[in-house]
Amino acid sequence: MDLIKVRQDLHRIPELAFNEHKTTEYIVNTLSQYPVEVIRLEPTGVIAVYKGGEGEYSLFRCDMDALPLTEQTDCDFHSEHEGVMHACGHDIHMTIMLGFIHEVCTLKPKKNLLFLFQPAEEGKGGAEHVIKSGILKNWKIKSAFALHSSPDYPVGTVATKSGIFFGIPEEFVIEFEGRNSHAAFPNKGVDALYAGVQFYNLMQSHITKLFAATDPVIFHIGVMQAGEAENILAGKCRMKGTHRTLSAENHKLMNRMITDTGEAVQALTGAKFRFVEVSTYEAVNNNENLFTIFRDILPADVAFVESESVMTGEDFGFFTSLYPSLLFWLGTGVSANGLHSPKFLPQQEAIHIGIKIFMELLKRI
Ligand SMILES: [Zn+2]
Ligand SMILES: [Zn+2]
Repeated sequence: MDLIKVRQDLHRIPELAFNEHKTTEYIVNTLSQYPVEVIRLEPTGVIAVYKGGEGEYSLFRCDMDALPLTEQTDCDFHSEHEGVMHACGHDIHMTIMLGFIHEVCTLKPKKNLLFLFQPAEEGKGGAEHVIKSGILKNWKIKSAFALHSSPDYPVGTVATKSGIFFGIPEEFVIEFEGRNSHAAFPNKGVDALYAGVQFYNLMQSHITKLFAATDPVIFHIGVMQAGEAENILAGKCRMKGTHRTLSAENHKLMNRMITDTGEAVQALTGAKFRFVEVSTYEAVNNNENLFTIFRDILPADVAFVESESVMTGEDFGFFTSLYPSLLFWLGTGVSANGLHSPKFLPQQEAIHIGIKIFMELLKRI
């Protein structure tokens, strides 16, 4: 298998979440020459099943989707899909998986393995979609693994940690519904903008009292919309935001704090409060035992860095909540053009390192 060509082919055909039809086709075609059972997922995605022995399965997952960005790299295998780009390295992840399958089919280890090409990692919850479809119940899965490209580390370096690695992201909408009136008669209306501002300020100050200073949390409002004219009380105030926590307890506490604060502001101002949780992921919680194995098996030419927990989300968290799992950063060359930048271009030299690590892992799982 010419992995450089595979990477370039995949980079040319980036597709958005749940729309990875050409990518699915490409993977199915590539796998047709290998002794694995190939299962297509709906609407997109692929599972390849390798049966080399008896017993439980280990699952390896890569993500497939791209981002709505116009590519600004000067590579000669540029995106052919206007306004869509593999700017998160998922083309590299799929290439590593295909190369890994090639190695497995060549060396024929006596293992049972599942290779999941998962759609829609970018905020659309593809992992949850695959799990809810029930397909994974066809196998007894004992562990799950994944990697992600990182522009923070050089090629030849990997990084991860035991325990909570990626936090729990939640996206939400908050609304206060008041009543319009002339600014000259404030007592005849209910000012939703005033309610929104009270809520925002209370949250920002109260958060420092509710969580330990050593226990990082993020509460962020990115959009606040209210009002129509300078002399009218705003009838509605709408906020969109996200919060990030590193434990299920803090996640729950944050949601309760939002509800309590919103209800207190409602009681104070008369503006009706509404809190809608739009999406949430599970935390990526790395299994301690798998973490120890991972450090043990690293080839001599691969450097290890113990990484910090991060507040970004990764839907691999849904797998870590079901099976003992491990996710790690694969250094793809230090670059100022990070993940989701239209100039992000992970180095192809990282591909064989990812494959080598997966092959080494196989000996111990
Ligand atoms: Zn991404
Ligand atoms: Zn990604």
